[in-house]
Amino acid sequence: MTGRTHDLIGFTALTAFVLYQPLQEMSLATGIVAFSANFAGALSPDLDEPTASAWKKIRGGSTFGKLLAPILGSHRMISHSLLGTLLVGYLLKLLLEAMSGVLLVDMTIVWWAFMIGYISHLISDAVTKEGIPLFFPIPINIGIPPFSSLRIKSGGLIEKSIIFPGFIIFEGYLIYANYEKVLEFFTEYVKR
Ligand SMILES: [Zn+2]
Repeated sequence: MTGRTHDLIGFTALTAFVLYQPLQEMSLATGIVAFSANFAGALSPDLDEPTASAWKKIRGGSTFGKLLAPILGSHRMISHSLLGTLLVGYLLKLLLEAMSGVLLVDMTIVWWAFMIGYISHLISDAVTKEGIPLFFPIPINIGIPPFSSLRIKSGGLIEKSIIFPGFIIFEGYLIYANYEKVLEFFTEYVKR
């Protein structure tokens, strides 16, 4: 799927997670960092692809992406697997712990926001024709539904005309259906 579809789905997953859990107090800084981490998480599995949209956002990023690609394997390898998710989760936890003395944000919230984006990326790639190598290094691609003929083409017409608008509507619905909770979150739980 395209980067913007991944970002939208990741953000929708985060919204649902926040709204269907007991609300948690956080500083405005934590909220902003968590929001950015969610976007980064939704894009980062595709950093194994030199043309990934995340690389294009960084100056010289595509060159760096080309250097990194052989290490991560070809596109949709370890970064799209359970093993990769566990590794990323573990390394990110170490990194955030190391940064927690410098940045005054709640790193547990940031970690969750990143991982929700990351996992939503893998689930959305699983509905595309190629599927994902969930059990890497076992070379079998897994998809939802199991028959690839029933899955969608990445970046294709169905993604652009149904999935993307569908998630915008779903995001709007989530906010509308939980409007009071959304207000409560921003007025009482986000501390300035
Ligand atoms: Zn991907």
